[in-house]
Amino acid sequence: MPEIIELDDFLSNKIAAGEVVERPASVVKELVENAIDAHSTIIEIDVEEAGLGKIRVLDNGDGIDEEDIQRAFKRHATSKIKDEKDLFRIRTLGFRGEALPSIASVSMIELISAKAGKPGTKVCLEAGKLLQQEKSSARAGTDLTVSNLFFNTPARLKYMKTIHTEIGHISDIVNRLALAHPNISFRLRHNERELLRTNGNGDIRQVLAAIYGMNIARKMIPIEAQSLDFTLSGWISLPEITRASRNYISTMVNGRFIKNYSLVNAIMDGYHTLLPINRHPIVLLSIKMDPLLVDVNVHPAKMTVRLSKEAELEQLISTTIKKAFQQQELIPEGNVV
Ligand code: ADP
Ligand code: MG
Repeated sequence: MPEIIELDDFLSNKIAAGEVVERPASVVKELVENAIDAHSTIIEIDVEEAGLGKIRVLDNGDGIDEEDIQRAFKRHATSKIKDEKDLFRIRTLGFRGEALPSIASVSMIELISAKAGKPGTKVCLEAGKLLQQEKSSARAGTDLTVSNLFFNTPARLKYMKTIHTEIGHISDIVNRLALAHPNISFRLRHNERELLRTNGNGDIRQVLAAIYGMNIARKMIPIEAQSLDFTLSGWISLPEITRASRNYISTMVNGRFIKNYSLVNAIMDGYHTLLPINRHPIVLLSIKMDPLLVDVNVHPAKMTVRLSKEAELEQLISTTIKKAFQQQELIPEGNVV
């Protein structure tokens, strides 16, 4: 009898789920990112009991064909990259082909999808196992409902914080995705209560207003800068608007939100001494750079990336913010290095 055995797909997906599906907000993130990758212009998210009851994401994107629908739930099955060359030039939010199989392994899923002009397909899965597949009338796009999340991983379920905390994480993710995609109309509802609605007309200030309210949106100024390797654009709050935590500072690289302490520090450095101690601004910073200079293949959740020329980028960020405040005459000329 050999001692080493190969785990079956159900078990290996469940193991992967430990990294990809940390909490309900991770499901929302992965599903909405799929809708974005599918070129949707309207994305509606309905959540019940902070996602532990139900998470439904409805989009009007490309849809999935009948012949592909089961493959979408196979591990490392993706329509987004084909070869090693693509891996180093990622332009979509997804590419690992891990989200759907991971989510499916710890929940029940109902997915209805159709490509434009084609008949729709409906599949139901439980713990990653296909229960049912049938033709379905559907308009073009995808309608995916996850229920009973973590029903078969009691330890993970126990670890969930209060409804308030979990819905906070969900709101946070959807807010960021809405800011990153002002051309998409988002609607987020929790237990039928609307938490966010954006109109998808491309105006970021309107998205800022939908999230933070008009008074704060009015006190945010746009920034822009360009160097050989980087293009920066974003919105920064005037120093009078401050928050106790750094969570309101969002940075994204090529449309993907990332966690990077050095970039946050560069932003704080840009504010110089304008902020009271232990207070932080509201910032949305979008960095565009050659995908060859970004390694997103660091962690399954794709929030950590490695950046080349990071020091140059940090310098550009803090100088750009200082200059913006100089133009607002908040920092005297000559204080920008
Ligand atoms: P990845 O996004 O890394 O490719 P996923 O497991 O998230 O992997 O999704 C697997 C595949 O299913 C995707 O590559 C895509 O082809 C298809 N898919 C998933 N969600 C959608 C959607 N909302 N609209 C269209 N296609 C989708
Ligand atoms: Mg995906």
